[in-house]
Amino acid sequence: MKTLGYAAQRADAPLAPFAFDRRALRPNDVAMEILYSGVCHSDLHQARNDWGWTTYPIVPGHEIVGRVIEVGAEVAHFRVGDHVAVGCMVDSCQSCDQCLQGEEQLCRDGNTGTYNSPDRITGELTRGGYSKHLVVREEFVLRVPDGLDLSRTAPLLCAGITTYSPLRTWGIGPGSRVGVIGLGGLGHMAVKLAVGLGADVTVMSRSIDKAADALALGADRLLVSTDEAAMAASASTFDLIIDTVPVRHALDPYLPLLDVDGTLVIVGQIGPMEGTNTVPLLLGRRRIAGSPIGGIAETQEMLDFCAKKGILPDCEMIRMDQINDAFERMARADVRYRFVIDMASLTL
Ligand code: NAP
Ligand code: ZN
Repeated sequence: MKTLGYAAQRADAPLAPFAFDRRALRPNDVAMEILYSGVCHSDLHQARNDWGWTTYPIVPGHEIVGRVIEVGAEVAHFRVGDHVAVGCMVDSCQSCDQCLQGEEQLCRDGNTGTYNSPDRITGELTRGGYSKHLVVREEFVLRVPDGLDLSRTAPLLCAGITTYSPLRTWGIGPGSRVGVIGLGGLGHMAVKLAVGLGADVTVMSRSIDKAADALALGADRLLVSTDEAAMAASASTFDLIIDTVPVRHALDPYLPLLDVDGTLVIVGQIGPMEGTNTVPLLLGRRRIAGSPIGGIAETQEMLDFCAKKGILPDCEMIRMDQINDAFERMARADVRYRFVIDMASLTL
């Protein structure tokens, strides 16, 4: 199937129109017309090869909402016309212990990313959601529950599940005290989801600028992370802190904020971190952890939870040809709080 997307040809090149083919349907494949695509900071990192593993050309995009236009002969759960979604993975081995318990993101053989990842059968590089069409095996297609606004659902597929999963892993519920470092795409979903689960939520931001937004999103307060006195006054008051900062940064200011047995979970920066003082870890039995996206079943659970609770991201809709400006704005944290590309703006 011929399709059109936007690709980067080099780390220092802007995204530009790029024509390519989607594979012919395998028996277990679902083909969709993409309606909306969220813009994740990971798209920017990978388009610019920040992590050193990008192969060009790259078509980013792993927050995808679409409509089914064709299904393979063996597809059991989807029909033409269904509203569906795809997140950060499009395949995994489906047979290891992690896949069998619904943690495909932790597949022992590595999951297949929605873009810039070799297809498990042909070895061809996958291409993501900044495009008109997508073909994905049925097991990695999510159902958009009735009642979710399609135009605001896409960011749930990465920003939503990446923050929902640690909230569930660490058993967050009523009475839990949750901190969120960085109020961006992931951060604002962490706030909404933690509030939805009944937690007391504090945003930790570099300035006071987003204080009104934090409260409007449902947070109980905003703590200015550069205010040493305010940080000291908050020592030992958190059960879980979710760190969404996209760049190298120090954890030392945040670790003393955890209560005994508290956990700081990194979902943002990938790569070497600043040297860390272990004193607060040892003396408070505190932990540093990491967490990648979430499994398919948990992603469906998160979508259903959002539909039930009326939780949706705050989105700024853009045209496909505004993506380079959106990337620049995202690089300087000027987004409130997720760009979503209206794919109708890209015509074949
Ligand atoms: P984003 O929308 O750009 O938000 C990041 C936020 O971090 C900003 O709004 C800002 O919040 C804060 N920040 C930005 N630059 C900073 C700096 N230099 N120092 C301190 N704080 C800074 O990004 P996102 O889409 O939420 O993604 C965040 C990170 O998560 C990215 O690195 C992305 O690759 C990663 N990610 C990981 C996973 C996973 O599976 N673990 C999944 C998706 C994304 P304030 O202005 O409030 O300080
Ligand atoms: Zn993402």
